[in-house]
Amino acid sequence: MTTELDRPRGFDALGLNPSIVAAATALGYEEPTPIQSAAIPVLLAGKDVLGQAATGTGKTAAFALPLLHRIGAAHDGERHVRAFILVPTRELAMQVAEAVHKYGRELHASVLPIYGGQSMHQQLRALRRGVDVVVATPGRALDHLNRGTLDLSSVEYLVLDEADEMLDMGFAEDLEAIAAALPTTRQTALFSATMSPRIKALTKKYLHDPVNVQIAAEMSAAGKTARVREVAYIVQRPYKAAALARLLDMEDPTSAIVFCRTRTEVDELTETLGARGYQAEALHGGLSQEQRDRVLRRFRENTSEILVATDVAARGLDIEHVSHVVNYDVPSSIDAYVHRIGRTGRAGREGAALTLAEPREQRLLQNIERVAKRKIRIESIPTLTDLRERRLALTRTAVEDALHDGDLSKYRTLVESLAAEHDLIEIAAAAIKLADQGRSDGEREEVEIPTVAPRAPAAPGKERNHKGTRARGTDGDVAKIYIGLGRSAGVRPADLVGAIANEAGISSRAIGAIDIADRFSLVEVPAADANRIIAALRTTTVRGKPLRPRRDRLT
Ligand code: ADP
Ligand code: MG
Repeated sequence: MTTELDRPRGFDALGLNPSIVAAATALGYEEPTPIQSAAIPVLLAGKDVLGQAATGTGKTAAFALPLLHRIGAAHDGERHVRAFILVPTRELAMQVAEAVHKYGRELHASVLPIYGGQSMHQQLRALRRGVDVVVATPGRALDHLNRGTLDLSSVEYLVLDEADEMLDMGFAEDLEAIAAALPTTRQTALFSATMSPRIKALTKKYLHDPVNVQIAAEMSAAGKTARVREVAYIVQRPYKAAALARLLDMEDPTSAIVFCRTRTEVDELTETLGARGYQAEALHGGLSQEQRDRVLRRFRENTSEILVATDVAARGLDIEHVSHVVNYDVPSSIDAYVHRIGRTGRAGREGAALTLAEPREQRLLQNIERVAKRKIRIESIPTLTDLRERRLALTRTAVEDALHDGDLSKYRTLVESLAAEHDLIEIAAAAIKLADQGRSDGEREEVEIPTVAPRAPAAPGKERNHKGTRARGTDGDVAKIYIGLGRSAGVRPADLVGAIANEAGISSRAIGAIDIADRFSLVEVPAADANRIIAALRTTTVRGKPLRPRRDRLT
């Protein structure tokens, strides 16, 4: 087994333009994912790449960072489309365009998503102004080519993202027509979650002497973690924080590490957990040695019960044992999964590894099971009823312990005086009610978390065949709300959670990702509640300033 430490790590080792590295760091990325480490140097060397890795492994940055590096900072005069990215759906077009925009922020690269359903007029105007990068669905790209409104003759870099999906959706002919409009001297990267004869044929046609980069083949030592209960929960994105809270309440861990992908996520989740009454501390590579030591000391001394960490920060940590490892996302590499769960179930003690997977991440989960040879059971998030039963069971144990310990004499007089007026069973029930309420921390507000049926395991290596049946973005019932206040106004996630919970009467647990930029913030909420939340927030202020909420343009 190669340990994580022998490999060169870090974005700066890949040879990327420093301002691109800075953008990745600013997003909270601490190190490249395996597909990024493997593909980026090859793409930077100008070679074509055939990349295969499951959903959620960071393929977007794997092709977008070298793309931006190539485009570079120089803009003399007119802009031509120099990079062209084809994706199967409009959601992906928006998502990838947003990602390229974020990664290329410092380079001032201009990016335009082009997809059906969007006003043609708007697209035409943007195209006339000139853009560096176009992200398009095949159908709409072909429309523009036929009208002569899209000029691809200067394209140096072509990406076919989710190529398997594009084939499944019947875009093979469109791809052919589009490829004919591109210079043959271009560099091409083709990414796919699966490898099939049709993908290989596509590769032969459009790629020149490609380097194969396959992450599914990665092998990991399964480790000595026999006594770990491994469970995964399929949860839609906006309900993840609620699901985590429910699991923590249910499992009542003595000590837990919750892993997130990025520093930003670590900070936000720590704050969200704190706002909901948990003793959580953040640990990531952005902390000073002194801060880390302090966090670790409090965790070891059990002053804090939950450590929220990135993989990098937790690597090589000397923590004896944790009862629970929680993957807030499915980790993007099999190694990371194995290392994470290696932190529990040590020395023959029992441990639990709980993974929250978004619907689209199930394939990644199945991959981990198969390659790491683990059995990860899929269960439903415990319901409110389960939680209440569990609390009662804990109360019962506590009462039994108290009976067993004896030494109740100082309460006997009180019981005897109550018994003069009430039934003894009633008195006991009232006392237990008080004990149970004390245990439930004043009843945190609770929401129902929708259950998502797991998908059937995919036969490895076989081509998927579900033409148009798979709903893309099952986690799509999410709306983003734009708020006209950000970090520079002193806004913190807890302020927004508080405002939405109090003013709109939405449970704080239904609120999804919160993204606070300098001058604005984005909050993910269940789409069904978006209008109500916006209406309520119009009259709300945070730190004395109006929130100016509206629907985010891109959702
Ligand atoms: P894929 O295209 O393979 O499905 P994405 O490119 O959409 O995956 O990335 C999945 C998630 O992982 C995104 O939220 C992205 O911001 C995050 N991500 C990508 N690269 C890294 C990294 N190096 N470190 C942490 N998070 C990352
Ligand atoms: Mg992708």
